[in-house]
Amino acid sequence: MGTIAAGYFGAIEAGGTKFVCAVGDQDGKILVEERFPTTDPATTISHLVACLRRQSVEIGPLAAIGLGSFGPIELRRDARQYGSILKTPKPGWTGTDVTGPLVRAFSCPIGFDTDVNAAALAEHRWGAAQDVEDLVYLTVGTGIGGGAIAAGKPIHGLMHPEVGHMYPRRHASDAGFAGVCPFHGDCLEGLASGPAIIARCGKSLDQLDAGDPQWEIEADYLGQLCAQLVLTISPRRIVLGGGVMNQLQLFPLIRRRLQLWLGGYIDREEVLACVDDYIVPPRLGAQAGILGALALAFDAAARI
Ligand code: ZN
Repeated sequence: MGTIAAGYFGAIEAGGTKFVCAVGDQDGKILVEERFPTTDPATTISHLVACLRRQSVEIGPLAAIGLGSFGPIELRRDARQYGSILKTPKPGWTGTDVTGPLVRAFSCPIGFDTDVNAAALAEHRWGAAQDVEDLVYLTVGTGIGGGAIAAGKPIHGLMHPEVGHMYPRRHASDAGFAGVCPFHGDCLEGLASGPAIIARCGKSLDQLDAGDPQWEIEADYLGQLCAQLVLTISPRRIVLGGGVMNQLQLFPLIRRRLQLWLGGYIDREEVLACVDDYIVPPRLGAQAGILGALALAFDAAARI
């Protein structure tokens, strides 16, 4: 990242259930923030543009805007659909252009990335992964998503990582459950997201006793996901957030499963010894998304 331009920056967290729209300053401070529910695309996007315009009138002109969006999204800058939501089960949103209306309404650069890459960027810049250049940010909630930073930059590639849809090996006590992913059934999101836990046992984890086998099943799947990430992109830290991860007792269980699945093969203290600064909770908590959007705005301003 180059020097951060002076001034004010728009930050937008586009989520499947809510949008957060904010203006922040060059020091990473959010000055004004508004949230509203995600409804149909036309209503939501026009609400978004009006909201950001109002905030900009109140605070000052925007040097750039950053938008972290639910996915999948088109990130290839030379693609016709750049800035759009790709095929999504969310009704009406497939093909929605989310950056175009912002480009037309505000004459400033727009940074665009997945919500999880944005959160990873925020944790790297201001949160739990400031001291490492390679990290993964995972969210385990209504879905499972992951953003990755390699050498300080978000990974895109063919599309962008979709690590929540990898297939884990079945836990021995979970053979009969079909999974809930509309695309794959029993991928990780289908077996270990919040809705998957409820579909399997009728309750969320926080409603279950500490001895309930669901804890071990959940920890095993998330441990497998972390192990596969260690084996593929070799992150120096894994930040694990989202609603399900508010159950902090999962962390030691996941660390143990990671160790087990790696089988001693990765010769690094971080995973051999199950140290508690390798798989960690987000330090920015629920602010990671909107601060990530602000970081995207900084980077967009620095590109010009
Ligand atoms: Zn899936």
